Amino acid sequence: MKALRFEDNKLKLADVAVPRREGEALVRMTTAGICNTDVEIARGYADFRGTLGHEFVGVVEESPDRSQIGRRVVGEINAGCGQCDLCRRNDPRHCPDRTALGIRGRDGAFAEYLSLPPRNLLIAPDSVSDRQAVFTEPLAAALEILDQVEIRASHHVAVVGDGKLGQLISRVVARTGCDLTLIGKHDAKLELAERAGIKTVKLGAAEIAPCSEDFSRHVTTKVFTTVTTKEPRFDFVVEASGSSGGIELALDLIRPRGAIILKSTFRGAVQLDTSRIVVNEISVIGSRCGRFETALRLLESGGVDVEPLVAREYRLADGVEAMAEAQRPGTLKVLLTN
Ligand SMILES: [Zn+2]
Ligand SMILES: [Zn+2]
Repeated sequence: MKALRFEDNKLKLADVAVPRREGEALVRMTTAGICNTDVEIARGYADFRGTLGHEFVGVVEESPDRSQIGRRVVGEINAGCGQCDLCRRNDPRHCPDRTALGIRGRDGAFAEYLSLPPRNLLIAPDSVSDRQAVFTEPLAAALEILDQVEIRASHHVAVVGDGKLGQLISRVVARTGCDLTLIGKHDAKLELAERAGIKTVKLGAAEIAPCSEDFSRHVTTKVFTTVTTKEPRFDFVVEASGSSGGIELALDLIRPRGAIILKSTFRGAVQLDTSRIVVNEISVIGSRCGRFETALRLLESGGVDVEPLVAREYRLADGVEAMAEAQRPGTLKVLLTN
């Protein structure tokens, strides 16, 4: 079968064997989504070698659970050992021996077929199209924030980063009724958010890059004059810019004793003045994968409209080109179809 792989420091379309793992289901991918994580992996993040991709919808062709055969499914990407405490509580997301689809020890979804344990698969409701269902994983990642912190209607919340994940997070967080501001640097993306009823602030392209003290003061002033708050006082700042400068900006925006939720994963380290975290007693919360069930139900109810976030569809065979497109600044979700 054809698979889009990252090997020998190169992204390429390769012919590989159909993945059949003992005791697992074989899924024919129909639509897959390119995530920033895939782009970062192709830059060396997570030291992963193999078939990329973890956002998918597909049809089950083989499974030890015969009730799944022929069904359209999405899949929880973390496959746990099944034995440890976490796995026994049906939460393999932090199992020490887990593999993760297309990220850690397991070939991914940018291929004609993929393999996952039957318990990882969830049936996609008929009313949720492939183009919607493919957002289950990133939507779950956005919803994870609401599992970690309690955002109420009285809270002021900023989301830094207007890309794919920032867009989903904004739509999910807005549902709490809080006072939400999305901070980004791309006109078209900010407009898209505004059409969904989200308040936005635009920064110049250079302003989200790692910035000097002077510069960050300038950015902070700009954000606050635009959102008409007098001083830094966002209760929560979600950092989803995908760049190291986003964290610095988050620290400028958060109120004392507020919480910063970090969503960006990228290759390399960030230099940070941690005294600011100490002095202002900021909580810093890492946030990764969320629950699929909640995300699917939200898609089913129409609570979040994801289709405007699709930039373009490519055939799997044009996967290398699709990855290049996904990296172009301003591009939203690029899909692969099989
Ligand atoms: Zn993803
Ligand atoms: Zn485990």
